[in-house]
Amino acid sequence: MTTPDTPSLQFLVRKNLAAKSPAEREQLLENPGFGSIFTDHMVDLCWSEKGGWHRPRVQPYGPISLDPAAAVLHYAQEIFEGMKAYRHADGSIHTFRPEQNARRFNRSARRLSMPEIPEEYFLQAIRELIAVDAEWVPSGADQTLYLRPFMFAKEAFLGVRPAKKYNFYVIGSPAGAYFKGGVTPVSIWLSETYARAAEGGTGAAKTGGNYAASLLPQSEAYEQGCDQVVFLDAHGNVEELGGMNIVFVKKDGTLVTPASDNILDGVTRNSLLQLAEDRGHTVERRPVSLAEWREGVASGDIVEVFACGTAAVVTPIGRLKAAGFDDEQPTGELALSLREELTDIQYGRREDRHDWLYRL
Ligand code: PMP
Repeated sequence: MTTPDTPSLQFLVRKNLAAKSPAEREQLLENPGFGSIFTDHMVDLCWSEKGGWHRPRVQPYGPISLDPAAAVLHYAQEIFEGMKAYRHADGSIHTFRPEQNARRFNRSARRLSMPEIPEEYFLQAIRELIAVDAEWVPSGADQTLYLRPFMFAKEAFLGVRPAKKYNFYVIGSPAGAYFKGGVTPVSIWLSETYARAAEGGTGAAKTGGNYAASLLPQSEAYEQGCDQVVFLDAHGNVEELGGMNIVFVKKDGTLVTPASDNILDGVTRNSLLQLAEDRGHTVERRPVSLAEWREGVASGDIVEVFACGTAAVVTPIGRLKAAGFDDEQPTGELALSLREELTDIQYGRREDRHDWLYRL
């Protein structure tokens, strides 16, 4: 929210003279895939110890110049967010609970000793990008414009202390349907050699280092013929996947999801659990041990297991593989029905009773 000490920003807009033609853009939007096509512009906002947030710009999308001593390249002060813009049937563009992403971004900033950004600036930055690149929000079935706000330490200084200069950016990348030909269950590799996060570490922050640490176990998952990796904590409790939260559905309709200070507090998970509660399901947020998971599946007490996150929304888990076992997972109807309800809200096909949409 704008408060008296949060002056509103006046963005300077520098148009991209080499912007894609409408025909080129339409061709790219036909089959955008994920994460490799970018819109014509980006937001760039500076922070310095002396000047606070300043120099707000929308400028042509393109390379960022960095001093070789820029702190991020050495000490990894970097955080990001991931959210989507949806085009509704009437042509309007909406994003989903962006204030949740802004708050999580600031929690990540605190953990990485980086400056927090006023929520209003975070939201304004997204509006400014969409104002120039609205045509990049696709209108095909299950398509979105993925939005990636991020911030990193730009100060040129080789010393281990919080940097004194940062830049905040927002880029946009059109995304196609995650599952072509229907949502299919994925197989999960249980990483017992590697941890993603530790108590007191940065697991709850959306910072690049967490993802770097997940790449080797993710390669192990591929080698084992699995799609994704799931991590445990030091006590044998289930945490999350490399980029998604996990939810268990019990026979009595209860949804159980790991409570931990070391996992990412997913907006998708919170929203799906709210929808389930609205339907009368009980939701439990508590530690879930690997033993409880395996025994629950074996006894029939667990009837569905699914992963959730912004990119894929909901992904049923069909198999859990580890060095010593390979367990088939039961799949049911609830995960997909919650997925449908959530995406219906996001695309404006169903009443937004929780006021989750934010019109851009
Ligand atoms: N955990 C991790 C590690 C993630 O990267 C993500 C994706 N942002 C999630 C969970 C799911 O979070 P969200 O629903 O907010 O996308």
